[in-house]
Amino acid sequence: MARSKARESRSQKLAIHGGPKAKTTPYRTGKRFGRDELKELKEALAQNTLFYAHGTKVRQFCTEFAAKYGKKYAVACTSGTASIHVALGAVGVTCGDEVITSVLTDAGGFIPVLYQNAVPIFADIDPRTYDMTAETIAAKITPRTKAVVVVHLAGNAADMDPILKLCRRKKLYVIEDCAQTWNGLYKGRLAGTMGHIGCYSLNDYKHLSVGDGGAILTDNLRLAKRAALFTDKCYSRNMWGVRTGGGCAFLAPNYRMSELCGAVALAQLRKVDWICERRNRMGKLLTRLIEDTPGILPPAITPGAESSNWYYMMRVDEKTLGVSRDAFMKALMAEGVPAGMYLRRVDQYPLFRKMSIYPPQKDGFVAPYDLPVYKPGRIKYRRQECPNVDLVLKTAVIIQMREFYSDRDIRETAAAIRKVAEYYLAKKSGSSKRR
Ligand SMILES: *Cc1c(COP(=O)(O)O)cnc(C)c1O
Repeated sequence: MARSKARESRSQKLAIHGGPKAKTTPYRTGKRFGRDELKELKEALAQNTLFYAHGTKVRQFCTEFAAKYGKKYAVACTSGTASIHVALGAVGVTCGDEVITSVLTDAGGFIPVLYQNAVPIFADIDPRTYDMTAETIAAKITPRTKAVVVVHLAGNAADMDPILKLCRRKKLYVIEDCAQTWNGLYKGRLAGTMGHIGCYSLNDYKHLSVGDGGAILTDNLRLAKRAALFTDKCYSRNMWGVRTGGGCAFLAPNYRMSELCGAVALAQLRKVDWICERRNRMGKLLTRLIEDTPGILPPAITPGAESSNWYYMMRVDEKTLGVSRDAFMKALMAEGVPAGMYLRRVDQYPLFRKMSIYPPQKDGFVAPYDLPVYKPGRIKYRRQECPNVDLVLKTAVIIQMREFYSDRDIRETAAAIRKVAEYYLAKKSGSSKRR
């Protein structure tokens, strides 16, 4: 009784009820693009060509990116989605294949699978790290499985050792989707360097931005060559960018990065370390400041991993706090914290629920699912097959992260989270005492 009284008096009036905001100062901001980008852009324009095969910027970006990550080859392309497509094209994913990826990812993770006339299969996630695991992947492997696109979500690398072991045993290609995990570390290794191909996005939301862009990394010369052809309509070129050979040898789109993007990518790449180190530090600080708060579940970092915190996704224990996630999130936003929840499980998107992949579909035929190789009707995306993702999506709150935030911003964010949690804890223990 006394303790709950003390707690009640300690809890402050929420901003949503007219109290003062816990976030007392605006979040620090900064400029993502500056002199370095401008210098590279001017040089690109001075070349009198913006074509990657005739200029130097895209090539130099690839050279520096590969060297920085300790890989032999990098190939630039136009988006993270394109980078996944390029990887699938390089390893030869085609009609009749299944590709396993996470149920919690960007649409860019499954769109290219369907464009290859292959079928995406969705693996569940770990409820605390939010990454797919060897167990959730193993549950989805069939004789048709050709590759696994491992999603490293929100800056936190998946537990790769068991995944690599599983895929080696099953002879599957491992493609790492690092769109949200630039500079993610796993047991001293960089995310994107452990599988056959690592894929990266440079869209404007990601750690690095060229507006829209992407790239892949690999050590395998055969895959690198195929990837380069796959970004460029299967045109093979000599070192002067002149076309050689007799024309398209296989089907490939045009995902060529322009020299303007290459120029900005070069300048952005030189900032990736401080951006990711800063985000890593802030994530750790925030976790340290809120981890003892009852009812708050900070994200679990994979053992041996260092997260680059693209965003910070925590969960609320609705039972302990006696409040719904939505009400908690509203209260937190009122305190001045940029909180939200925009993730969805991709297997329940309308195109899968209605099987409207390539509308209009003639005679109810849904390609590629109804092709004889897939045994029509066999593949169904059932909600109950991925229970953990529902648990996460029902209870998660995403806190936006920016490399420009100060430590004070993080301390005030933590104070806001604790304030809201303590208010509801006190309210709950008060009402249970009165009963
Ligand atoms: C952003 C993202 C992509 C797609 O990148 P785009 O550049 O937007 O095409 C793919 N996978 C994941 C996990 C992403 O977050």
